[in-house]
Amino acid sequence: MVSVAELGTEKKITWCPGCGNFAILTALKRTIAELDLEPEKVVVITGIGCHGKMGDYVRVNSFHTIHGRVLPIATGIKLANPELVVMGFAGDGDAYAIGVGHLPHAIRRNIDVVYVVHNNRIFGLTTGQATPTTPKGMKTRSTPYGVPERPLNPLIMALALGATFVARGFAGDVNHLTYLFKEAVKHRGFAFIDVIQPCVTFYNTYQYYRERVYRLEDEGHDPSDWEAAFQKAREEELTNDERVPIGIFYRAEEPTLLDEFPHLAGKPLVKMPLTVDISKFLPEFR
Ligand code: SF4
Repeated sequence: MVSVAELGTEKKITWCPGCGNFAILTALKRTIAELDLEPEKVVVITGIGCHGKMGDYVRVNSFHTIHGRVLPIATGIKLANPELVVMGFAGDGDAYAIGVGHLPHAIRRNIDVVYVVHNNRIFGLTTGQATPTTPKGMKTRSTPYGVPERPLNPLIMALALGATFVARGFAGDVNHLTYLFKEAVKHRGFAFIDVIQPCVTFYNTYQYYRERVYRLEDEGHDPSDWEAAFQKAREEELTNDERVPIGIFYRAEEPTLLDEFPHLAGKPLVKMPLTVDISKFLPEFR
């Protein structure tokens, strides 16, 4: 069994001290250790943004892809080798702006991957511009007169699209976040987790959320009840920002994309012999 310490790397962590990304990294390492996953069978895919360094800081396979393309890469890796535990990490700019078009398709395919969004409601790496989840009216470097649009609600979006696992975590509660990650890995199908991840440098929301966050598990929420999940996903706006639930909003068992491809059952694609001679095509790519 691998320990949390053994999952560290020699890379110097360059996130700002206190950044919510640290809790997400810790939850990831604890998940691998506590579920006794083999590190060589875990793949972490990251996009562009401060979160994108996750792959440098954990001793598993990783793929740092271009902006907004975490889900296509995760889908391809899982189809090629279903034996792998595939976990995608994206920022809110990454996942809900340029990459949002991939979310409906990952959800309707119910591909068996975990998708974690580091939602700090700001572009951190590029020093403080508005993203699709920045609150309306907030002044940022790209919106000096205030954001004119309503923020996107990722949980409502995922529920409405039919996601089979919808959760929200808070970087200020790493034990609960670890629980969510573990449940997401165990889920058969697409597992979506939006994480409230305060950016201490450009939008520090720790205090705001500490005063408002509560665990759904403590109030007897039934995660098999889609309508109750929908109501809980709207609770922040319905209570004028007074109550912010975290936990598993919804969970259901449905066929995964791999269930629809019986010819992929058994040996993973990557272990099958190559029966086509591709050598004559290769010169085109030189
Ligand atoms: Fe974290 Fe914000 Fe610093 Fe990026 S800019 S490392 S999100 S605190």
